[in-house]
Amino acid sequence: MMYKVFILIFLGTTLFASNIKLDRTTIANGQSVFLELAQIREIEYEKIDFMGKSYPIYKHQTKDAGYYSILPISYYEKAKKDKVVVHYLENLKPKAWHVELSVIDGNYEKEVIKVSNSKVNLNKKDNARAEEEQKEAMRIYNTTSEKSYISSEFIVPLDSKITSGFGKARIYNDTLKGYHSGTDFRAEVGIPIKASNDGVVVLAKERFYSGGSVILDHGHGIYTCYFHMSKFNVQKGDKVHKTQIIGLSGDSGRVTGPHLHFSARVSGVQVDPLQLIELLNKKLF
Ligand SMILES: [Zn+2]
Repeated sequence: MMYKVFILIFLGTTLFASNIKLDRTTIANGQSVFLELAQIREIEYEKIDFMGKSYPIYKHQTKDAGYYSILPISYYEKAKKDKVVVHYLENLKPKAWHVELSVIDGNYEKEVIKVSNSKVNLNKKDNARAEEEQKEAMRIYNTTSEKSYISSEFIVPLDSKITSGFGKARIYNDTLKGYHSGTDFRAEVGIPIKASNDGVVVLAKERFYSGGSVILDHGHGIYTCYFHMSKFNVQKGDKVHKTQIIGLSGDSGRVTGPHLHFSARVSGVQVDPLQLIELLNKKLF
């Protein structure tokens, strides 16, 4: 009890609850939370800690004053209540303030797939390739561009029916082998795919699982991904603008038919891409 009182006194200085706004107090696994931080003269924000990970704080892009951070909640995060801790310097002294956030179960659908083990287990060569590609992608996702490339709302890459949403659990022979990591848009082979926002092409190549793949870096740790494409109009290093046709849809990689798989990452964490872009459109512009 003494300890608790001490902490409260120690933390409670210039920052108040009204200076830090979470866009919600409960969040499902696989979704993102937006945190707004007011600009205060004596305060220099450092980082956010939540559930054992740290997240950067950025200057708000369209507001003259203020900062923001995005907390991406991993799909594999278990339901629990925890503290979002804001670390800052007040007149150069390190301090912290916290708000509570509850992670709840997103209750995603489950898909049970019965297959022979030889189909689940890849041969050595394919496995090595897939692992290498995964490592390469993680190096990209864990890189954060300090600069933001975006200046207006995100769009969906394709105006067509969503055939499979984010998050459906995939259970192969009674084992959770993963989940649907993006949103699938209906598309036959050869439909133009638009960049969801301004950014830089950080990957444009053929991969084992995702086939023809393009990854765009939008800055501030935000990435969007476009998979199973049949043709690229861009290459690594290109700057792209929102609505630019980056390539054509297809059925490349491990798929049962043509479609566009659209996904997103924030600070290395895979999240529901449509919830993310809706949240950013509402909060950044
Ligand atoms: Zn998909």
